[in-house]
Amino acid sequence: MDQTLAHVRGAEHPLLREDTIGQAFDQAVARWPGREALVSVHQDIRWTWAELGKRVDQVAAAFLHLGLEPGDRVGIWAPNCAEWVVTQFATAKAGLILVNINPAYRAHELAFTLNKVGVKALVCAGRFKTSDYPAMLESVATDMSASKDGAIASRLLPHLKTLIKIGGEPRKRFMDFEALYDLATDADRARLAEIGPSLSNRDAINIQFTSGTTGLPKGATLSHRNILNNGLFVGAAIGLTEHDRLCIPVPLYHCFGMVMGNLACVNHGAAMVYPAAGFDPLATLQALESERCTGLYGVPTMFIACLEHAEFERFDLSSMRTGIMAGAPCPIEVMKKVIGRMGARDMTIAYGMTETSPVSWQSAMDDPLERRVSSVGRVQPHLECKVVGPDGETLRRGEAGELCTKGYAVMLGYWDDEAKTAEVLQDGWMRTGDLATIDAEGYGNIVGRLKDMIIRGGENIYPREIEEFLFTHPKIADAQIVGLPDPRFGEELCAWIRLREGHEADEEEIRAFCRERIAHYKVPRWVRFVDAFPMTVTGKIQKFEIRQVMIAELGLSLEKTA
Ligand code: AMP
Repeated sequence: MDQTLAHVRGAEHPLLREDTIGQAFDQAVARWPGREALVSVHQDIRWTWAELGKRVDQVAAAFLHLGLEPGDRVGIWAPNCAEWVVTQFATAKAGLILVNINPAYRAHELAFTLNKVGVKALVCAGRFKTSDYPAMLESVATDMSASKDGAIASRLLPHLKTLIKIGGEPRKRFMDFEALYDLATDADRARLAEIGPSLSNRDAINIQFTSGTTGLPKGATLSHRNILNNGLFVGAAIGLTEHDRLCIPVPLYHCFGMVMGNLACVNHGAAMVYPAAGFDPLATLQALESERCTGLYGVPTMFIACLEHAEFERFDLSSMRTGIMAGAPCPIEVMKKVIGRMGARDMTIAYGMTETSPVSWQSAMDDPLERRVSSVGRVQPHLECKVVGPDGETLRRGEAGELCTKGYAVMLGYWDDEAKTAEVLQDGWMRTGDLATIDAEGYGNIVGRLKDMIIRGGENIYPREIEEFLFTHPKIADAQIVGLPDPRFGEELCAWIRLREGHEADEEEIRAFCRERIAHYKVPRWVRFVDAFPMTVTGKIQKFEIRQVMIAELGLSLEKTA
């Protein structure tokens, strides 16, 4: 390979795993039965691999009892909890495709995702903070009825047959998750044992929604081979072993939690530690200390929140060794503090995207400090990356262009969406939409984004999705969303809105409309009403001008800290 070109290949060893997630999970249970597998601090749960293994088998067989068949989709819509992990591995063992639904999603997004991939059974949280999940589901399926065998029917959610709820008060039409542990018969268990060996590691086993520049979320479909191996290599890069205890405050619905967290632990025998249902800096610091965690994951804003917490100095973090910061540009100063003040001397940076399972680049524990704080490391094993120019030509080292990734980690495609898949996947190359450089020694740097995407506190937001949602408001004629720099979240949303003739609205009215229907992080922080948008002569809206006007008006600093 021409060393002057920005085209690199990762190591070929260790070899890729060719088993299924179910087999890998069983192997972990057999290898480390008495060691702790899972600690869910907020639920006061502490299970060994043997205990977790037993529960996973019970629930996998219960899913079969409920009439689910390999290939069926099972949704999970809940914040971090032990039931999430049980569902993850139970579905994998039964060959059911787990569909991750962001717990921040509201009715509008929920209905779309359930129908898009035909979710047949939904596991949802009972109540969390201000969200009553069963009530939200009922508000979508207003025509819901139950047949004699207990299956539900709704013309609005035509695929959905079974509802399972984690905790909370008993509720009509929802089965309690706890009941799953006692549901299976010997026949279900025998069927589960038959299914295991019949599954292929190339089969789809997980769908994760990513938003798109064209509006509605797309279901990135991932195989056992995709995500099991990503967990393997991500864990290897931070030297995980069965002696490690990994603090996972990142969400499980995202690959950061369920692949880089849970699947890395299954591969390497480390304990999964969940400090809280949702990210909470104090709970994270407490879990690091009380559980003697050796590793911590987070997007930059989470590390910043922990480091800046008023009680930070009070905690004994001497057990800390490693971890991963990823998901958004990782500021050099934050990385330095994590290594210095948190004592995470083997901390690494990773870069990736859901469509590549997710990680494709990661720094190594023995990379010089300067490299670990200022790059995303080197390409991961069994992957190939190149930087291309506007015509698809491979650029030279040091030149900035679009990063493309090829190899085992690239998704199977977007669920039921060949056209969208073809837009990003060509000849096995995934176009990331990120701008990167690769230097002479093969280190990568993410220098910008081609895609119109905003990252707010680690959550990706596609302006187009929110613009289209705003069009559903009867008073709105047109809307433009831009990201503005924010010291806490990295970026914040701003909406410029043109109202229909003769209508009036205020900012709060718009925000309230959003709050009821879409996830909280997509609700614009700044709302302005305008008569027109800045345009080019060809009629293209100039978002950068909207940004400039707002930055000046609000007196914002261009320096993003997260
Ligand atoms: P997701 O699909 O949610 O994992 O988001 C993927 C996107 O997050 C990437 O395409 C990047 O734009 C961004 N991203 C992830 N990791 C990093 C990183 N280490 N540095 C900069 N941007 C990142």
